[in-house]
Amino acid sequence: MDTTSAFNKFRETEKEIHAYNHALGLIYYDSVTSAPKGAADGIAETMGALSSRLYELTTGKTTSEIVSYLLENDGGLTFEQKKELKEFNRDNEYMSSIPQDEYVEYQKLVSKSEGVWEKAKKENDFPSFAPYLEKLAEYNRRFAEYYKPGEKPYDVLLDMYERGLSTEKADKFFGELKDSIVPLIKRISSAEAPDDSFMSQTFPVSRQRELSARLMKIMSIDENRCGIGESEHPFTTEFNKNDVRLTTHYYEGAFADSMFSVIHEGGHALYELNGCDEYENTSLAGGVSMGIHESQSRLFENIIGRSREFCESLMPVLKELFPGQMSGVSAEELYRAVNKAVPSLIRINADELTYPLHIIVRYELEKALIGGELEVSKLPEAWNEKYKEYLGVEVPDDARGVLQDSHWGGGMFGYFPSYALGSAYGAQIVNTMKKELPFKELILRGDLRPIVGWLTTHIYRFGKLYDPEELIEKCCGEKFSAKYYIDYLTNKFKELYSL
Ligand code: ZN
Repeated sequence: MDTTSAFNKFRETEKEIHAYNHALGLIYYDSVTSAPKGAADGIAETMGALSSRLYELTTGKTTSEIVSYLLENDGGLTFEQKKELKEFNRDNEYMSSIPQDEYVEYQKLVSKSEGVWEKAKKENDFPSFAPYLEKLAEYNRRFAEYYKPGEKPYDVLLDMYERGLSTEKADKFFGELKDSIVPLIKRISSAEAPDDSFMSQTFPVSRQRELSARLMKIMSIDENRCGIGESEHPFTTEFNKNDVRLTTHYYEGAFADSMFSVIHEGGHALYELNGCDEYENTSLAGGVSMGIHESQSRLFENIIGRSREFCESLMPVLKELFPGQMSGVSAEELYRAVNKAVPSLIRINADELTYPLHIIVRYELEKALIGGELEVSKLPEAWNEKYKEYLGVEVPDDARGVLQDSHWGGGMFGYFPSYALGSAYGAQIVNTMKKELPFKELILRGDLRPIVGWLTTHIYRFGKLYDPEELIEKCCGEKFSAKYYIDYLTNKFKELYSL
């Protein structure tokens, strides 16, 4: 075997893996958008069969041999090819560090825990979930030690979801954020709230569907390559850069829910639609991390979608589609309504300003949990105290408290911080973009193409070639800093609430 033929073989494997992922992705998409309920068993069986073949293909002997050979003989490989190999090998390294029997046991625990969590949430019964959570945390701690012995387990977990992230960096980021946002929210809580009652009138779903199509056009999402479907929870998935699907969910009494879902998922979609052609079917295709992906979705949803300029440019469209409901409503009133900041209990319904505090609570708690400083039995109490301290709200029960998210029940510790990081990346990216583009004017004109073009040049086309931190530095000409996000939130909300 020589390097060139080994690399060609590796590419063939990547292509085949991609084909399996394509099939699995399509089946999944169909199952949550249009498959009849009775189809579930057959779908699970097919997905199981395809997944096990995919696992074999990814981790099997033939592939491992080729990958090891290439890693040892990478002299003739380009920077991009080396990175491609590294990306491909990332999951394998983790998997192969864990004894197989323990991994199987853990998988069984996860699938059981998800059900236990669901029931516990429904019945507001934390004690029934606690033993599972204890085991899940224990496994995650141990697996992190297998994977990177000698490192702090929570650091290892953070890096798995957002490579390069560590407790030290996250502490600094969240510390700065907390110091400026907590006092701001306290001041807003006693200020006069905007009137958003017009948003809960009835907005026919057929018209909302039309609004989605208009939004996709405004965002310059190519409808030949991106479809829109409906599912319980909005999401975006990509099969390749010419086939991206996003979904939304329509509520007659809350048109803004779907509107912002479409803009948010549209941001994810744009990232995938504008990747580099040459990376197709390789491990470099697609968004680099959860944090960078969220930077795009949140940039469109919040920094653009919830801006005064966007509300102004969208108003004629809203008046055309919903003449009765929007009659007498001004763009300024819309702007104020979609930016109403109210400390609340539930993360997924939180507004742009209070959202990061929900993440900080989870970050501090899971760090203590994995670090062995907090016992599972004390978790609800610690949760409630932090909600009181940071958001000023009393948590009435665990269902609306510590049990609200599915992440921990699914064994995911270290995942939450990337949501908040994404918003901060987005603010820093926009700060740079504004030096080169008339950002606000473009939004006001309803022409987002130059913005998408700029993001393609500086973010999208690189796929997974650079790690998140490198990508930010390359795009912004300086290292990541929370400053831009904090300034953005402070300026916006101080002005909104006349503080
Ligand atoms: Zn998202």
